[in-house]
Formats: sequence, structure tokens, C-alpha cells
Amino acid sequence: MKTKELYSGKAKTIYRTDNPEQMIADFRDSLTAFDGKKKSEASKKGYYNAQISRKLFEMLEAEGIRTHYIDMVSDTEMLVDALEIILIEVIPRNIAAGSITRTYPIKEGTRFEKPVIVLDYKSDEHGDPMLNEDIAVTMGIATYEEIAHIREMALKINALLTDYLYSKDLILVDFKLEFGRKDGEIVLADEISCDTCRLWDKTTGKSLDKDVFRFGGGDVTSTYEEVARRLVPEIF
Ligand code: UDP
Repeated sequence: MKTKELYSGKAKTIYRTDNPEQMIADFRDSLTAFDGKKKSEASKKGYYNAQISRKLFEMLEAEGIRTHYIDMVSDTEMLVDALEIILIEVIPRNIAAGSITRTYPIKEGTRFEKPVIVLDYKSDEHGDPMLNEDIAVTMGIATYEEIAHIREMALKINALLTDYLYSKDLILVDFKLEFGRKDGEIVLADEISCDTCRLWDKTTGKSLDKDVFRFGGGDVTSTYEEVARRLVPEIF
């Protein structure tokens, strides 16, 4: 049962429950981009993202990846393990898009021979700057061993998700992961949804993710619904 609100992020609100080991993440309809400078709402966005995340966490768990997902308690509310969050945004990239094409002379659409893992410091205050192992360890965010393990998990998750999404006619361009610690183990946290992945339609190459909001290329609700129809057909 939900007790106290712990904090409200850009797209989810986290609540304590009567069990200190568990929390509830409520996926909201609010949307932000460009460090919160662009804001909006899209009806059913929270619902579609919650259901897509649930399905992808279930798939990963079945493949041996430990995630924080426990159960759904409503259409938009996910019961999760309470973790000690590691302040690193882990971004596996298969095809160049977004910030990597703005920061480096890499053309959008370039397919990487092997996935490129980017680590960013999860800090709105500092604008999520890119990290390397030494900086993360110096700041006490994680140990070298943890970072090596996180990279390994991210590569495995990327391979599993790439194949799974391709079977649904979606190309996984890049996505963001967060991890936490639980009982000495590294656990996949947060969400995997249209807000946190770049997905291109296999046939048309059209963006089916938050880029339609970032760059005004389409309607958010119908775009996220299209992805939900492919990944969670059982909710329709
Ligand atoms: N991403 C995210 N949250 C962030 C930053 C990035 O979910 O705070 C996701 C984003 O949706 C994309 C990937 O991580 O799928 C890479 O994002 P990028 O670094 O290219 O940043 P952007 O182009 O979105 O500014």
C-alpha cells in the first residue's frame, strides 16, 4: 500500500509503501525534454510507458537479468524493489543519434560496429555531464568493479532488447539505463520505455519515441500507442 510520496521526477512519482523494501513508481502523463525546458502532457503516456516497461522487465528477468520490477499494482503503478540508486545514466548506443552527433563529428544514422556505452553523471544540477570510470570512482559514485559489472549488464541488456524489439519491427537506436544496489547485487532500475529509448520503425525509419515530442514530429499519444500495440498487444 502507498504511504508517503518520496519524490516526484519529470515523468514518475515514487511512493514509499508499508514495506520498507518496496516502493511504488507511478508513471505520469507529463513529458519534458531539453533538461526540462520543454514541458507538456500527453494522455495515456504514463499508461503505455508503464506497460511497455513491465513487458521489457519481464522479458529481461526471464533471460536472467535482475530488475527492480515486482508487480503492477494498477495500470500505471509499478511495485519495485527499494534500491540504493547509482548516479550514473548508462547509455548503450547502436546507431548514432542525439547528443553523440552534436558533441562529436559522428553523423546521425552511423551504425556502430560494436555498441558504444556512454556513462553520464545523473545530476540535473550539473547538466548530466559525461563520466569516465576515474571520475565516477573519485566522486564515490561506484567502484571500478561495479562499473565493469554495469557495463557488462548493459551490453547483455542491449543485445536482448535489440533482438526482442527487432522481432516487433523496431530498431533500438539507443536507450538509457539506471542501476541500483540491493543486498550487494547490482539491479536494473528505473524504466525502459518510449521516454528512455530511441526506436525507429524497421520499415519506414520513423521515430517511435520521445523524439516526436522533442522535435515536434508527431503526436505523442498515438506514437506511444503504436509501440504499445506491438509490445503489449494484450492491453488492447
Ligand atoms: N535519455 C534519457 N534520459 C536522459 C538522457 C537521455 O532517457 O536524461 C535517453 C534518450 O531518450 C535517448 C538516449 O538516452 O534514447 C540517448 O540520449 P542522448 O544522450 O542522445 O540525449 P538527447 O539527444 O536526448 O539530448
